[in-house]
Amino acid sequence: MPELPEVETVRRGLEARATGRRIVDVEVRHPQVIVGSAELFEQDVRGVIGRLDRKGKAIAVELLALNGDAPHYLLVRLGMTGQVTVVSRDYPLEPHTHARLMLENGEEIRYRDIRRFGRLRYCTREELEEIFSGMGPDAPAMTDAEFLAALAGRRTPIKSWLLNQGRLAGVGNIYADEALFAARIHPLSEARSLKPAQARELRRAVEHVLRRAIAMQGTSLRDYIDIEGRPGRFRIKLKVYQRTGEPCPRCGAKIRRLVLGGRSSHYCPRCQRRRRRSRR
Ligand SMILES: [Zn+2]
Repeated sequence: MPELPEVETVRRGLEARATGRRIVDVEVRHPQVIVGSAELFEQDVRGVIGRLDRKGKAIAVELLALNGDAPHYLLVRLGMTGQVTVVSRDYPLEPHTHARLMLENGEEIRYRDIRRFGRLRYCTREELEEIFSGMGPDAPAMTDAEFLAALAGRRTPIKSWLLNQGRLAGVGNIYADEALFAARIHPLSEARSLKPAQARELRRAVEHVLRRAIAMQGTSLRDYIDIEGRPGRFRIKLKVYQRTGEPCPRCGAKIRRLVLGGRSSHYCPRCQRRRRRSRR
């Protein structure tokens, strides 16, 4: 599933390839990936592509109106298997291509999504701000103070806390496991049980793993590709994620897997000891 580094890689690719281009026509091939009416989406998504913003795992494409009206936005969420590519308009159409945004230069932006959990939404500035305000701070930009405040009093396992997009935006299963390993914290530790020094260590680990992954264009496990169709290169750097049974790169103990909320967590049983809140 694309997480912040993969989404940021797509954002940068779109910025390089599509900024300043005008969308002249839209074809929706599967309405399930569109929020609201697919017919209106086809009519409304027009204009010159301006700024590309991202918060968490969502990309906002600014659409500048030619008549000087207020800009609108195209919000892109990749879901589980969403892919955005920019190709020549005569490039053969691949299966599961659900939307095509034709550009004036003979290229087009294609949205492809095998599982169809991703969504494209046309919205106003106000709607976009409301969506973004429902998310926590963007994970790599979070301060120690924000991080500590958000942890306070939370009984939830730290792994689940990291995945909650309302607390901090952008971290998914891969980078949560990697950050917990780097900070030597057991995934089932209660969020509130972390000592301030550990919490700061974890925040730094989250930022570090996300920034390193962005620098390597993300992690490709199955479906993720960048705008040019290339996989990310961070997979070889993963230390615990999907390495069950392999030796811990720090201590040699076998990496274990546990299931929490229907999702796998990978951790070292020796480096990442479970702690409970001490009773008073
Ligand atoms: Zn270890």
